[in-house]
Amino acid sequence: MEVKTFGVIGAGQMGSGIVHVAAASGLSVIMNDIKQEFVDRGLANIAKNLQRGVDKGKMTAEEKDAILGRIKGSTDLKDLAAADFVVEAASENEGIKYKIFETLDQVCKPHVVLASNTSSIPIGRIASHTKRPEKVIGMHFMNPVPVMKLVEVICGLATSDETRELTLELTRKMGKTPAASNDYPGFISNRILMPMINEAVFCLYHSVGTKEDIDTVMKLGMNHPMGPLALADLIGLDTCLAIMETLHDGLGDSKYRPCPLLRQYVEAGYLGRKSGRGFYAY
Ligand code: NAD
Repeated sequence: MEVKTFGVIGAGQMGSGIVHVAAASGLSVIMNDIKQEFVDRGLANIAKNLQRGVDKGKMTAEEKDAILGRIKGSTDLKDLAAADFVVEAASENEGIKYKIFETLDQVCKPHVVLASNTSSIPIGRIASHTKRPEKVIGMHFMNPVPVMKLVEVICGLATSDETRELTLELTRKMGKTPAASNDYPGFISNRILMPMINEAVFCLYHSVGTKEDIDTVMKLGMNHPMGPLALADLIGLDTCLAIMETLHDGLGDSKYRPCPLLRQYVEAGYLGRKSGRGFYAY
């Protein structure tokens, strides 16, 4: 089945990035969010990123306009009836995601694959909220989506081989490299990354070092392009906390307990770059 129209739910950091790469690969894209202002913000982000490409001579202004022309905004999930493949990239909240999948299952054509960009919610659990669990899969893009090559592709217990093959093919068409993970909490990427970030927050909490020193050790000592606290700010501290809670609940091991300081920041609304303040001020 050829995918021509691609649907993305959520026009935030990740959703707008996924829309960007999908439209750049030639697909027509429907970008959905709950409010028009969020759709507009997503579109403005994409336009700004594309303009950067034009300024650097990587694409022409005409190519930029053609990509933007392939994106249609939406604030009604019913619009997804026109999609051949949908990726959900709404907030990392189980209730929100289940409601979206229940609605998409009713609205989308029966053969349409429903993928989730969730960082940590089990794909099988999301799939159980639809009548097409064989067509539900994880398609986990990395942040920032236009830059990062990897997409983790996660099959739930019921995901069919056909769904897996189509998702791998689409991932490659979007210029990304897939890596397969089984459906365990945090998959591969966050099972390894998040405990490291959480441990960096514990180092700050226990005054082992300042935020700058913690990040410098990991950058210059371990050759990481960004320090873990700066990376947490980029990912969003609320998302980091949600992932740690999923690892803790799902694996039942106290080594995954979220650092109290991470929780305190999230409760205070210090969510990282997106709120202008996290471990650093923006
Ligand atoms: P974000 O907060 O930037 O964006 C979420 C968007 O979803 C918001 O615009 C919000 O209005 C929208 N939304 C909420 N409820 C909705 C609904 N019912 N229908 C449509 N839209 C709705 O969050 P984000 O960082 O883009 O994360 C989105 C997803 O991607 C999460 O599942 C997250 O775990 C995952 N993810 C995040 C990262 C990261 O680094 N931030 C990396 C990989 C995966």
